[in-house]
Amino acid sequence: ALDIGHDLGRAILNARTFEREHRLVVELQELDAYKGQLIATVAHELKNPLSSVLGHLEMLETSTGLSDRVTGSLAAMERGAQRMVKVIDDLLLLSKVGDPDNPVIASPVDLSQVVEDVIDLVGLSAQQKRIELHVELPEQPVFALGDSDELDRVCANLISNAVKYTPEGGDVTVRLELVGDDVVLSCQDEGIGMSAEDVAQLGTEFFRSSNPLALAQPGTGLGLAIVRRIVERHDGRLDIESELGRGSTFEVHLPAA
Ligand code: ADP
Repeated sequence: ALDIGHDLGRAILNARTFEREHRLVVELQELDAYKGQLIATVAHELKNPLSSVLGHLEMLETSTGLSDRVTGSLAAMERGAQRMVKVIDDLLLLSKVGDPDNPVIASPVDLSQVVEDVIDLVGLSAQQKRIELHVELPEQPVFALGDSDELDRVCANLISNAVKYTPEGGDVTVRLELVGDDVVLSCQDEGIGMSAEDVAQLGTEFFRSSNPLALAQPGTGLGLAIVRRIVERHDGRLDIESELGRGSTFEVHLPAA
């Protein structure tokens, strides 16, 4: 009878702990949803006045008789405002791809084409840094199941990061393969790399490495958070390997179409 009483006591304690933990998980989920809504609302509210500021700046820049100083100031203001637009657009995308009420509308996406388009876009900045971009695509086009704009964003963020965080004259290799039922996109660089502590924090909103070589590049720490959420909502997986001073490999697994 003592044993039964003891077991019962433990079962009740376990049930209470479980209930407490469950309540905590629900509360955290609610807080996360609230954070997402807050970010989206603030971003929306900032976007309209900022568009108006940009419009006025562009109009002023076409005025005649401006001194060089005023022209310089207007151009600097426009660059700053454009940067803010980019951050706001990233915040809006981040909240969209993190919203469980807004699931992916999936269709077959030609990832080979997506990679080629991104390489065309990033090619110029790679050239400017004399970075060799190697692209290895299978002979037949490879299709993944997903949203084409979102998958384009994943490729663009990973490839542009590889170029951004690789010093002049380095190599970047982008590879696309079909492995079983998965499409695997890998982006490998011989750049500045990251410590294990940094890798563990990748994908957290606004996270940027404290490595001065990384901070020397412009950025917001939103790109990989967007990548992580898009990959998750496509039932995919993101593997990251990196070594400080040697380089990084980002590998995305997505369900093939
Ligand atoms: P951003 O580049 O705008 O700062 P990201 O979210 O794309 O934001 O990346 C977060 C951080 O991860 C970067 O600030 C950088 O420290 C690190 N990082 C991302 N990609 C690489 C890479 N290929 N090599 C080294 N560090 C990287």
